[in-house]
Amino acid sequence: MDTNRNPEINTNLCDNCGICVENCTENALHLEKQGPVFNSPNTCTYCAICEEICPLHAIRVPYTVSWKA
Ligand code: SF4
Ligand code: SF4
Repeated sequence: MDTNRNPEINTNLCDNCGICVENCTENALHLEKQGPVFNSPNTCTYCAICEEICPLHAIRVPYTVSWKA
């Protein structure tokens, strides 16, 4: 199972406002010229604050539900 997935950032939509970076409680993101990037794949707790707060819907936190048969 892949446990190190990060939120997905659409750099075509992102305008580099930095709101997601400022509001990430885990400091998992930092801002680069092309948009936010992850400091460390293991830092993100998948809380989805960044997804909720992004005004351009440029960052998504997709969930996959799986179960054992
Ligand atoms: S909040 Fe959205 S638009 Fe702003 S830097 Fe983050 S991903 Fe880009
Ligand atoms: S899901 Fe939460 S911890 Fe992960 S980058 Fe977004 S705000 Fe930070």
